[in-house]
Amino acid sequence: TRSTRPQRLLKAVRKRAKRGDPQSVISAIDHFCRHSEWAMNIGDEKGSILDSVVSELSPEKVLELGTYCGYSTVRIARLLPPGARLITLEFNADYAAIAKQVIAWAGLEDKIQLVEGASEDWIPHMKEHFGIETFDFVFLDHWKDRYLPDTKLMEDCGLLRKGTVLLADNVICPGVPDYLEYVRNSLSYKSCYFKSHLEYTKAEDGLEKSVFLG
Ligand code: SAM
Ligand code: MG
Repeated sequence: TRSTRPQRLLKAVRKRAKRGDPQSVISAIDHFCRHSEWAMNIGDEKGSILDSVVSELSPEKVLELGTYCGYSTVRIARLLPPGARLITLEFNADYAAIAKQVIAWAGLEDKIQLVEGASEDWIPHMKEHFGIETFDFVFLDHWKDRYLPDTKLMEDCGLLRKGTVLLADNVICPGVPDYLEYVRNSLSYKSCYFKSHLEYTKAEDGLEKSVFLG
């Protein structure tokens, strides 16, 4: 049977990227997506905005919602300080299996805990399963109808502290109007928009950065 897109993406990583070199893994995936097949990674353009937010924060406890092939996972993890932990959630077992290998190729297994399952099932168990009190940084990039309910769930579970930064991808394309309405109007957040383009295209998209004020 024909291979899947994530399998072809992994093949491109193995062919073009140097083992243990996260930057070469990122470049190999971007090259594959620009020249062979589009895929739903945050991509290089929005990726540089993600990089600056992560670098500025230097977070120790990070949650990523939506791993896919591990592109943004590698992007974030390579910038984390020593001892930091990134938990990334993915409910598609085939994608998780690819991400695991991409992360290993980048040599970042020690920083990353890839957890298979649905965000709404795992968020209430972060404390008992992973010993997490609160996250410093959360990257939201799973299915768009889950941004708002999962944000409220993280609030209810006490996973956000004063100063926790939420960064949400694809707030214009495909768009998350209910989430934007919430973080922009709630007194519990200070929110701002970073204009950019949908991964590997010229269509407008952007990231919303929202600081939880407690
Ligand atoms: N963050 C990745 C990157 O930029 O490289 C891309 C993630 S992709 C846009 C979204 C992923 O979220 C898909 O792989 C999908 O299977 C996963 N997903 C969607 N809803 C989810 C949920 N509720 N819990 C866990 N994973 C979910
Ligand atoms: Mg995205």
